[in-house]
Parts: sequence; C-alpha cells; structure tokens
Amino acid sequence: MSFVFQEPIDSAAIKAKGRALGVDLVGIADGAVMNAHPPNPRLPQTPDRITDHDGDRCIVLAKRYSIGTTRLPRVDERHKYYNDELTLSELESASLELVLWLEDMGYPALIIPPTHVDPWVYFGEPDQHTETILSLTHAAVEAGLGTLGMAEQLITPEYGPRVLLSAVLTSAPVEPDRKRDEALCLGPRCGRCVQTCPVDAVGHFERDWKTCNTQRSPHGFHALADHLGRIIDEPDPEVKKQMLRSKDQFYIWQSMLRGAGVVTGCRRCQDVCPVGSDYTRLADALDEIPEANAAKSARLTAYAQAEADGAPPQSYDSAKRWIGTLKEPTQG
Ligand code: SF4
Ligand code: SF4
Repeated sequence: MSFVFQEPIDSAAIKAKGRALGVDLVGIADGAVMNAHPPNPRLPQTPDRITDHDGDRCIVLAKRYSIGTTRLPRVDERHKYYNDELTLSELESASLELVLWLEDMGYPALIIPPTHVDPWVYFGEPDQHTETILSLTHAAVEAGLGTLGMAEQLITPEYGPRVLLSAVLTSAPVEPDRKRDEALCLGPRCGRCVQTCPVDAVGHFERDWKTCNTQRSPHGFHALADHLGRIIDEPDPEVKKQMLRSKDQFYIWQSMLRGAGVVTGCRRCQDVCPVGSDYTRLADALDEIPEANAAKSARLTAYAQAEADGAPPQSYDSAKRWIGTLKEPTQG
C-alpha cells in the first residue's frame, strides 16, 4: 500500500483523537527505545518483531474500569468479568477507529490488542503462561503513562492500576513521550496487592503468573482442557453426561460467547491499590482486605527490611527501568 499524500500530524492531534474516541489516557512511546529495551531479552516483545515498516511509534491507549465494578470485591464475580469485557470491547473499537483515522491521514498503522498471545511461544501446555506479542504494561511505561507496581501491574497517577490497555503501532513522525523516573508504587510499606491476592501470587516486584492465571482467567484455555480431560477420563456414562450439563461446562460455554472469565477475571491487586486520584471514590468499599493474614504481613516486613538494607530483590533490579526509583524505604 503506497501512501503518497500525508496530512501534517503531531502527538497532540493523536491524543485528542484518542480521547474523542472515548479513551481515558493516551501516551506515545518511541519504537526504537522499545526495541533497545525488551522486557525479557530471551523473548523480545518488541515492535521490530511485529513490523519492519510501521513500528516507529507505539501509541498506548488506556481505558478505565467502571467504578461500580471495581467496588465489587468478590474474585469470582461473573458480573464484573462481563462488565470488564464490555470495557475491553470499547477499547478495541477505539483502537481500530484510531488506526483507520491514521491511515486516512496517510500513516499505516496496526493494533496490538491486550489479548493476543504470541503463537510461537505456545508449547502444548494449557497451564503454561503465554505472553502477549508486545508487553503493553511496559509499553505504557515507555509512553509515560505510569510505572510498574509490586504485582508487575501498570500504575497510573489518574486511575492507579485500574485501566485496560491497547496499543497502535505506526510510523507517524510524532514526538514521543518520556517515561517517568520515580516509582508510583509505595512498595512493601503499602503491600496491599500482596495482602489481597487470593492465591498468594504476588511477591517483591514479581508475580507467579501461572498461579495468577487460575484466577485472572478462571474459565480460560487451561480450564477448558482440564474440564474436557475429566470428562474423557470419567468411566461412568451417566456421570459423563451430567458433566456435560454441569455448571463448569456452562461457565466455559458462556465465557466462549464473550470472553468474560477468559480475557477478564480477578483484578483484586489492581482494585485495592491506593495510588490514583480515583481511589477516593473506592476507599469505602475496598479499604478492608479480608484476604490479609499474618504470614503475608511477615513477608512484607522482610521485603521492607531488604529495601532498607539497600538489597532489593533481583526482580526489582531487572525491571528497575519500568518500576522506577523507589521511594524512601521505611520499615513494614
Ligand atoms: S489478578 Fe488476582 S490472582 Fe492475579 S495476582 Fe492479582 S490478585 Fe492475585
Ligand atoms: S497496592 Fe501498594 S504495593 Fe501494590 S502496587 Fe499499589 S502501591 Fe504498590
């Protein structure tokens, strides 16, 4: 496709268009900087692996979750999953509209959705954690939208971690944004994401993604494979038939219709984070953390001590670029 005519364009026009399309936050990262700093050098998720021609800029779009759904504290709340899926659909539509607008202006572009995993890194293990083709959280940091927190989630000043992300790659020659240097995360002296996780998957700036996925995607591919495996292994034909009509099967079917419970699920570590101007509208519903316990508190005290001793974990060192400089360390 040859674009002979190109309208003048700048980053302010792209951001205004994103907001007009219903997106809450828009940042622009430099594709060359992302290519030079892959989050995982063994599996580079970089624009140059996706396109040779149109990855000079990565426009990152963030849409906030609705406040009402965030105020629902249950982890297995399908109503929340469904609402989140609708938010995601809106974000995907806005991404496509932005691509078509850019192309009408003369700049080819393509969407990097948050749910598209890299097919080359799936090895026939349904429980395996699969990475998206581009890490949108890291792209968002490079685009100046925020920094990463203890659970490796993006934190923004406006909405804390309570946003969904999408991205658009393009070679429109616009000024990129700069990433922040200082961490927004309050670290182990806060530790609310550690305290709330129902499966204890959050560590000191790291997440056990495989364990998290059992909640983050409760009716995802791993659940389907397990369920079908149990049906195949069941010797009694009557029980087999009941399993086909079970609640498990019903949830999987419902999830396949919309993706609710597959691409959406638990987000407690995002909900309870006190960072973000929106938290004042959430605090009365979320301040109390029923999942907190003494063992998690002891771990947080040890994390805070390690920081005070100037010995943050390797997980921090390897992701410091995106977490940012930690605030003054204090005891638990
Ligand atoms: S999404 Fe849920 S399960 Fe996963 S780390 Fe966050 S709180 Fe834990
Ligand atoms: S809940 Fe606290 S520790 Fe966790 S990411 Fe937010 S600020 Fe950081």
